[in-house]
Amino acid sequence: MDGSTSDQIHVFWHSGMLDHETGSGVFDTGMDPGFLDVLEKHPENADRVKNMVSILKKGPISPYISWFSGTPARIPQLLSFHTPEYIDELRQADAAGGKMLCAGTFLNPGSWDASLLAAGTTLSAMQHILDGQSKIAFALVRPPGHHAQPTQADGYCFLNNAGLAVQLAIDSGCSRVAVIDIDVHYGNGTAEGFYCSDSVLTISLHMNHGSWGPSHPQTGCIDELGDGKGFGFNLNIPLPNGTGDRGYEYAMTELVAPAILKFDPLLMVMVVGQDSSAFDPNGRQCLTMAGYREIGRIVRKLADKHANGRLLIVQEGGYHITYSAYCLHATLEGVLNLPHPLLSDPIAYYPEDEALAFKVVDSIKQYWEETLPVWREK
Ligand SMILES: [Zn+2]
Repeated sequence: MDGSTSDQIHVFWHSGMLDHETGSGVFDTGMDPGFLDVLEKHPENADRVKNMVSILKKGPISPYISWFSGTPARIPQLLSFHTPEYIDELRQADAAGGKMLCAGTFLNPGSWDASLLAAGTTLSAMQHILDGQSKIAFALVRPPGHHAQPTQADGYCFLNNAGLAVQLAIDSGCSRVAVIDIDVHYGNGTAEGFYCSDSVLTISLHMNHGSWGPSHPQTGCIDELGDGKGFGFNLNIPLPNGTGDRGYEYAMTELVAPAILKFDPLLMVMVVGQDSSAFDPNGRQCLTMAGYREIGRIVRKLADKHANGRLLIVQEGGYHITYSAYCLHATLEGVLNLPHPLLSDPIAYYPEDEALAFKVVDSIKQYWEETLPVWREK
């Protein structure tokens, strides 16, 4: 086996995050059209995360997991990433008894406290790494955060949990942090927060979904490369529907690994969403447990090589109630660099069609080589 194994992943969690109630309706709309007999829970519901906690406590990976309790973030901590005006808007929405902030994004009674816990739990996990308590920590949090921008909510997200943690690392003297976001959606909030910074390399692999309105003006296209001294420090990898395990592995090897090599981070953050799985109601990227396991392994290897093994993992989307938990289990197996899978895939059967994905990855590489001087050096 190559690379090192880690005996333990330190998981930060607090059950208060289950108190964020997102309601039911037609998928994530919160609306009852009046002509359906059966509505469904909002996809970002407590059940998905209950199963993630459960599989890590009772699944075969459990001996490798240590549990730590999260604490709520304090308001001043939030201002390292978000504007005071935006935080006031959230507090007012909470005081008023709740509000839909944008499509599908409901701040209901209990949501604000859960958001503070998600942000604080992620900050605790990062502080744990910065203090040298563990090299690998996982913030198992909801509501998710990677769409939340400095000034606005988006895509089920209120506070940017990963962004706050990255800023904490920077403020603690860690001068180069790399973020790899494998949620099926563009990590637009994190990208926006560090768009003009050369201290944070943000890389996002996502479905080619484009902008989705005023709450998400960013396109996620390859030409959103960062601004000013941040130019070249935001790398977008939009991938075609059905990219699959081998397509993701190819993108990780051909695009992500060389980008990390050039940046040489002191700490890495992996932003995980299981909505890039083959069975997710919110994504079409067709990853299976095998693909997640391989991505986890690659990221661990990069962290060992460039960041002295320091890796924070932050939970984002993933909406299939049972398979998301399995895919998380597989990702962490990969991060542990275990020699054999601990858990077999209960449902994956799709034959892959990675040819289009390979072509897209090659064309992105060519674009970076033409546009970014650091990519022309051999
Ligand atoms: Zn997502």
